[in-house]
Amino acid sequence: MNDMGPPRFATTRNATPVEAAQRDLLLADPGFGRVFTDHMVTIRYADGRGWHDAAVTARGPISIDPACSVLHYAQEIFEGMKAYRAADGAPVLFRPDANARRFRASAERMAMAQLPEDLFIEAVERLVRIDADWIPAAGAGSLYLRPFMFASEVFLGVKPSSEYLFMVIASSVGGYFKGGKPAITLWASEDFTRAAPGGTGAAKCGGNYAASLLAQAQATEKGCDQVVFLDAVERKWVEELGGMNIFFLFDDGSMITPPLGGTILPGITRDSIITLARDQGIEVREERYSIDQWREDAASGRLRECFACGTAAVVTPIGEVKTTGGSFTIGGAQAGELTMKLRAQLTGIQAGTEPDPHGWLHRVARD
Ligand SMILES: *Cc1c(COP(=O)(O)O)cnc(C)c1O
Repeated sequence: MNDMGPPRFATTRNATPVEAAQRDLLLADPGFGRVFTDHMVTIRYADGRGWHDAAVTARGPISIDPACSVLHYAQEIFEGMKAYRAADGAPVLFRPDANARRFRASAERMAMAQLPEDLFIEAVERLVRIDADWIPAAGAGSLYLRPFMFASEVFLGVKPSSEYLFMVIASSVGGYFKGGKPAITLWASEDFTRAAPGGTGAAKCGGNYAASLLAQAQATEKGCDQVVFLDAVERKWVEELGGMNIFFLFDDGSMITPPLGGTILPGITRDSIITLARDQGIEVREERYSIDQWREDAASGRLRECFACGTAAVVTPIGEVKTTGGSFTIGGAQAGELTMKLRAQLTGIQAGTEPDPHGWLHRVARD
């Protein structure tokens, strides 16, 4: 650890920020992950020196050595979170403490230096504050924040890096899925798995995504929006999508979501939905659910609704599942009623139009 205390941030404002009129044009239809703000945060770590050189600077390319170890051994983790505008226009974050904690857990699994949680939150807050004009108006979108960290030691030996670069960038976003269909279609991959017991499935690391891309490409080829992965051992239990958790809603009013346990990413949206559902007396079971049961329950009507959830896509109805053995639809491939109610509750809390009984909103203090 750094015994000189937490690093102080040096701030250098972007000398040529995007003009307000141009920014308004970009914010009119930002899509996802293409429109970036004027600034970024960097903090460096070195063994023996701790966290140092914390800075907010103009967003721009970074230069790394070709032997930078992340390029070879993929020691990299990230987070995804959003800033919204409160009714009074002030920027707010949703459960940033949970992202900070998960970032540390991911770092631990990947044998990386663990960024103190308060420093993580301070870094995110500083970027949101300096780029607050990039937060779309309430209801029009949000500012997606991407904290990430990678092994930056220049060394080809295989070992945990002795140096890391932590960064935060931000992107103004609208909706995640294009096309405006009421519900998405999933491809159930039988060829590929996302995570195995003892592996890195519970860590938010880039490598998990790299491993999911071929399955995602197959899903796209089959005309599906996303891939849903089955467990790696028996190849029958539904786990999650490439970047979203999954919920099943039944005709008796209860819900199931697959249990965490190392192969599923502990989503903050997943946890929030479980809490909101239980608050209103809905029985939520964290229980294994098989692809065969899914098909059977969709056909019998026992399964009423199904949705995926995550920060980027919020709560997204699932209407159809395709497999090599045929496809089946859920609830007439329409958005389910309870699904949309839970979605409205969650987005209402984030927008400040619904009560926040669990204190999930975090106001970003002014300078
Ligand atoms: C990030 C992520 C999720 C969703 O997590 P949230 O905290 O809800 O955004 C789900 N699954 C995977 C694999 C992820 O990487």
